[in-house]
Amino acid sequence: MNAQNSPLSAIIVPVTPLQQNCTIIWCTKTMKAVIIDPGGDIPNILKAIEETGVTPDKIVLTHGHIDHAGGAAALKEELGVDIVGPHEDDLFLLETLAETGSQYGINDAQNCTSDQWLNDGDTLGVGDVNFDIRHCPGHSPGSVVFINEDIKLAIVGDVLFSGSIGRTDLPRGNHQDLINSIKEKLLPLADDVTFICGHGPTSTIGQERASNPFLQG
Ligand SMILES: [Zn+2]
Ligand SMILES: [Zn+2]
Repeated sequence: MNAQNSPLSAIIVPVTPLQQNCTIIWCTKTMKAVIIDPGGDIPNILKAIEETGVTPDKIVLTHGHIDHAGGAAALKEELGVDIVGPHEDDLFLLETLAETGSQYGINDAQNCTSDQWLNDGDTLGVGDVNFDIRHCPGHSPGSVVFINEDIKLAIVGDVLFSGSIGRTDLPRGNHQDLINSIKEKLLPLADDVTFICGHGPTSTIGQERASNPFLQG
């Protein structure tokens, strides 16, 4: 992601006791940045923004779980930018973040809502670069992923991981929906599309299509 001619650059800030990959991604031409999934540890995120010298443009949520959205309200207050995403079906999660946080030892989580819900077919702008939005329910009903096929980059939240898939035992999770989302919206992408996920290392679509044990057969 730091290739010299790349139109985008990104860094990952692990946040919350769940080590969620808060991703700061920016357009290298305009230096406009989106902060994806600020689950908590806001001082660390602010420090990373300052060190990279980017201009925060919006906060983006892949879904409404505590480790992804728990710090969104506080970061919005710090930066004065909108919260974009996820799909509206995750509103019930955003409305109960403070309560859920106490169960996970995240005591500073705040409820939030979205300034702009996202739907399948929408576009997300990162400076001059656009990502296609795909609604991928299953891990949560309102999960969305961001895809740019030219740059060969996807940001998938907790839908797909290196060697695994999102859990589906949380409220309104559904295993078959998740498998369908992955097979219909992600696996058709080219082998060399890299994806950043909510936890753990990045991988490629080709790698997961070939060897992810949840996606065989
Ligand atoms: Zn999640
Ligand atoms: Zn997560």
